Amino acid sequence: MVEYTELVIKRLLNKYPDKLHTVLKHKNNTELFVAVLLSPQCNDNQVNKVTTNLFKRYKTFEDYSEANIKSLYKELKGLNYYKTKARHLKKASQIIIEKFNGKVPQTMPELLELPGVGRKVANVMLNEGFNIAKYGIAVDTHCIVVSQRLGLSKNKTADKIEIDLKRRFPEKYWKILSNLFIALGRDTCTAKEKFCTRCVLKDICISSEDK
Ligand code: SF4
Repeated sequence: MVEYTELVIKRLLNKYPDKLHTVLKHKNNTELFVAVLLSPQCNDNQVNKVTTNLFKRYKTFEDYSEANIKSLYKELKGLNYYKTKARHLKKASQIIIEKFNGKVPQTMPELLELPGVGRKVANVMLNEGFNIAKYGIAVDTHCIVVSQRLGLSKNKTADKIEIDLKRRFPEKYWKILSNLFIALGRDTCTAKEKFCTRCVLKDICISSEDK
């Protein structure tokens, strides 16, 4: 299995050398945290569209914690579950100020204390914001589809798939794996359709329709 996983990584790195980071736009870790917190159940373009305006008006966790909730609803209206996300953002900002001195915490257990933060959000924050990969792999819907089709997991939930991927891939790949699977899932191995004839993994993938 090690050889297979090494081959998968090698081919994807070769194909997507410029896709090793999140496409969520941000200039600092406050913006990254906000963007990632808003990202579940939305595509990254939707989030970038909303944050382009949001980040002009809100700069610090103080700004979010003191925000009028109805104004925040308005700002986030282009996103799915925007009301829940607005409440989470306000509350998470209050906790970050009160408990973590206004800085995004840098461990998985601390991040998971914040409302709206699950393992995927926390892993993206740790990987992209702090260059910390030891806690795990950010598993989104693209990763779920690609992992299953590549035979890397038979599980259906992100948390269980993350455990399978962590068992199969050495830790040195955890940080980049998610973004490589997202790149493949966006243009070739999409949830709706798989374009195996143009896939760089078509000769080794167990679900390939072009061997
Ligand atoms: S070969 Fe087909 S099923 Fe396998 S990863 Fe590529 S596109 Fe997906």
